[in-house]
Amino acid sequence: MSRRLEELAANLDAVRARIRAACSAAGRDPAEVRLIAVTKTRPASDVRSLRELGVTDFGENRDAEAAAKAAACADLDLTWHFVGQLQTRKCRGVAGYADVIHSVDRLRLVRALGAAARRAGREPRCLVQVNLDPPVPGAAGPEPGPAHRGGVRPGAALELAAELDREPGLALAGVMAVAPLPGHGPGTDPAAAFAVLARTAARIRAGNPAATVISAGMSGDLEAAIGAGATHVRIGTALLGDRGPLVM
Ligand SMILES: *Cc1c(COP(=O)(O)O)cnc(C)c1O
Repeated sequence: MSRRLEELAANLDAVRARIRAACSAAGRDPAEVRLIAVTKTRPASDVRSLRELGVTDFGENRDAEAAAKAAACADLDLTWHFVGQLQTRKCRGVAGYADVIHSVDRLRLVRALGAAARRAGREPRCLVQVNLDPPVPGAAGPEPGPAHRGGVRPGAALELAAELDREPGLALAGVMAVAPLPGHGPGTDPAAAFAVLARTAARIRAGNPAATVISAGMSGDLEAAIGAGATHVRIGTALLGDRGPLVM
C-alpha cells in the first residue's frame, strides 16, 4: 500500500466510525447515509485511491476541475456530485458529467440546467440548495446577507422545487445545505439550522415522494447533520487532509 493510500484508508475508517456513531446516537441505520468524498483541489489519483477503498461518490465545486477529474476517471463508474455555486454559463458543462447537482437555487438555473440536460440527453438528479444563514437584521427582501454562499430561503424552497420538478430533463431529488458560519450570533447553531432543513425537506417530500435526499454535513458538523436526518454527507478535509488556508 502506498503511503497516501494508507493515509486515506485511515481517514476513511475514522470518518466511517464517526458516521456509525452519529447514526447510533440518532437511532438510524448507517446504510441510510451515503458518504460523498469532496475531492476539490485534490488530484485524480486520490479519487482512484478512494475508489479502491470502496468510495463510489465524489463531489466537486468547480466546473473545470470537476470536468477534468470526471474525464480522467471515466473508466471507474463513479457518481459525480456537483456541490459548488453554479453559474448559468457553466450549466452545459456540468450537465455533461454530473449525476447529482446539489446547488440549484434559482429559477434561471433550473431553466439553463434543464436545457443543457436535454441537449446532453442526460437527466441529472437535482437538489434545491437552501440557505440556512440567519437573516441579516435590517436587510430588505428575501436576499441573504453579504456572506451569501448560495441557496434559496427556506420559505421559497417549495416553489423552486415545484419548478424543478416540472422542468423536463431534470429529476428533483431533495435538498442540500451548508451550515451557517459559526459565531455569527443567534441562529448559527448547526443542529437548529439542520432542523430547518429537515422541515423544508419534509414539505417538499409531501408533494414529491421521490425527493428523499437531504445533503448536509461536512467534516466539522456531520454528527449534527446525521442527527437531523441527513442522507448524504459531503466530506473533504476529514478524508483528504487540509486544503490550505486560501482554497475554499
Ligand atoms: C468543500 C465543501 C465540502 C467539504 O467540506 P469539508 O469541511 O472539507 O469537509 C462540502 N460541501 C461543500 C458545498 C463544499 O464546498
